Amino acid sequence: MPKNPFPPLTHIHSKQIHAHLIKSNQTHYPSSSITNLLLSYSFHNLPYASKLFSLLQNPSTFLCNTIIRAHSNSSTPLLAFSTYKQMLHSSIPLNTYTFPFLLNACAHAPSLTQGRCIHAQAFKLGLHPNVFVDNALMQMYGRTCELDFARQVFDEMLERDLVSWNTMIGGYVYGENFDKAIRLFERMREEKVTGNEVTVVNVLSACARAKDLRMGRHMNEYIRAYDVEFNVIVGNALIDMYAKCGSLEDACAVFDGMLEKRDVFSWNSMVSAYVRHGSIEMARVLFDEMPERNVVSWTSMIAGYAQNKQPEAAISLFKEMQLAGVKPDEVAMVSVLSACADLGALDQGRSIHVHVSKNGIRVSSILGAALIDMYAKCGSVEEAFKVFHRLSERDVNPWTTMINGLAMHGHGESCLGLFSSMERSNTKPNQITFVGVLSACSHTGLVDEGFRHFCRMSEVYGIEPCIEHYGCMVDLLGRAGLLTEAQDFIEKMPIKPNAGIWGALLGACRIHGNVGVAERAARFLIELEPHHGGRYVLISNIYAAANRWDEVTKVRKMMKDRGIEKAPGWSWIEIDGVVSQFIVGFQSHPQAEEIKSMLDEIGMRLKEVGYEPQTTHTLFDIEEEEKEHALYYHSEKLAIAFGLINTKPKMPIRIMKNLRVCGDCHTVTKLISKVYDRVLIVRDRNRFHHFVNGSCSCKDYW
Ligand code: ZN
Ligand code: ZN
Repeated sequence: MPKNPFPPLTHIHSKQIHAHLIKSNQTHYPSSSITNLLLSYSFHNLPYASKLFSLLQNPSTFLCNTIIRAHSNSSTPLLAFSTYKQMLHSSIPLNTYTFPFLLNACAHAPSLTQGRCIHAQAFKLGLHPNVFVDNALMQMYGRTCELDFARQVFDEMLERDLVSWNTMIGGYVYGENFDKAIRLFERMREEKVTGNEVTVVNVLSACARAKDLRMGRHMNEYIRAYDVEFNVIVGNALIDMYAKCGSLEDACAVFDGMLEKRDVFSWNSMVSAYVRHGSIEMARVLFDEMPERNVVSWTSMIAGYAQNKQPEAAISLFKEMQLAGVKPDEVAMVSVLSACADLGALDQGRSIHVHVSKNGIRVSSILGAALIDMYAKCGSVEEAFKVFHRLSERDVNPWTTMINGLAMHGHGESCLGLFSSMERSNTKPNQITFVGVLSACSHTGLVDEGFRHFCRMSEVYGIEPCIEHYGCMVDLLGRAGLLTEAQDFIEKMPIKPNAGIWGALLGACRIHGNVGVAERAARFLIELEPHHGGRYVLISNIYAAANRWDEVTKVRKMMKDRGIEKAPGWSWIEIDGVVSQFIVGFQSHPQAEEIKSMLDEIGMRLKEVGYEPQTTHTLFDIEEEEKEHALYYHSEKLAIAFGLINTKPKMPIRIMKNLRVCGDCHTVTKLISKVYDRVLIVRDRNRFHHFVNGSCSCKDYW
């Protein structure tokens, strides 16, 4: 911002002069006196300056330019054009300064239409080529994303100054044409034009976004070789480049060398660098050390926790942020919503939704999708739908999130219905949309419908199916009992089947009890993922179900010999915003005694309706939670008992579980839903089970 060469007038003083001017109707006020006033106003109070300006009968070109410039830098840049029209109307001569200011206004608006008119006018008046006008033209075309026009102006320039090069390189960076930005910089070097800190910051930003570490390192040398001023902006651009190109070490070296010069942006870049590197603890150390924090600092740290699967930490830091009086931005809210979704923390998620509504925050398509995802993953499809219907702006993201949410809950028909509405609304689906559509077909047993969508995906939308889509198709065939077709499908796949594909086939074998196919799938699986305990357990369960106990023993021994660690199973439940976790077996818990009595009561009441614990082969059907004596104390049973104690009658109970639900727990939960007249919503590793009045939405296929 240029320094105002005129002493600022106090507000009252200025008003007095202005009042006097209006009262005395001094339209011929000596321009020398008015100039000072006008210039001062143009910096402090543009509306007054405009009023004052309108009193002048024959303003000079200089004063017109002053007002145009003030408008061009204001929040209403296009008002500059009323002055421009007045100049044309009153035949006030335009000069080479008028045009750059007008073009700046077009760049800020941004308005390509107005910009083009000015370009034509400048050409007509013979003011182009002129280095000031041309630089402003490039800036205007750059901001309106017409980079080819900008480049044409650049190429046709008779003389170029450093601003010309910087503007064109900056235009490419703004338009995300990073390679072109780097290439133009290389040409600048060939033509022996030395860049300054603006050049360096632009090129570094291009390197960061293009992940061009080689060029980025080269820029670091360039700064030294050409004595470019190493200010805080240059330092921050270097840190950001190294961080985004994945060189944490270099980022640290620059940061350490900036001891005196660091600002909040330097710290933020460094926090992001650690987050990106997955060193979340180091990021936190730095975050705690920061002398000052802004909303970006908080957001980076919260997003870091959410991405690194530390949802509790993300939520607790979000609360700290609110207590510190920092208003969360959209990125922070989206991150914390994804943490709530991970954790199944519905109350926490709802409180963020309340915050959004209370503060009148606009629900963009990104925030909307995050809310829908949170509600769906926390087990409340109804609330997800409410958000979806209220969204004013619906691009592919909310549609896709809602479709996947419905699929996850096994609402196959409404999922496919929603997909048709999406197509009717002319929103183009993406790969993830189709994962939802295909898995909905799979859960609903709609084989033909599934194949139809699988074909349309590439034929109508040009989306090549990826491994997830093939996985859905194998699952679709497998669930429908078409195991031979599923194997044929795998044989003909153009991509190499991964563990997900064989896992889907193995899962289908469990449902349909096909030992032969299961053995084959398991062989591939164990080869691909020799340390995944769940695979061994699944095949051992299939042998057990077929009463092939020798094989069961063999698999168990193999696991033992290979030292395969089993992921512990755990379940959790959120009541009044507090998340309680349970692992298998009985544990110390403030309500341990109550939970135990509740489990005894459940046992008795279920016995009355004919339940018998499944003690034979299903003993093994408990994936990693395989302590046989502990069947009674499986983590989800503990969580359900805890839920029954701590919620009002008829309230739905929502449980999350990190593994697949076992057969016995599934049966018990179905009976509880009937005997206790409760809706129970259980999220396992793959999907949701809605237990209502003695049956489950998965129709016992999961
Ligand atoms: Zn269980
Ligand atoms: Zn179920």
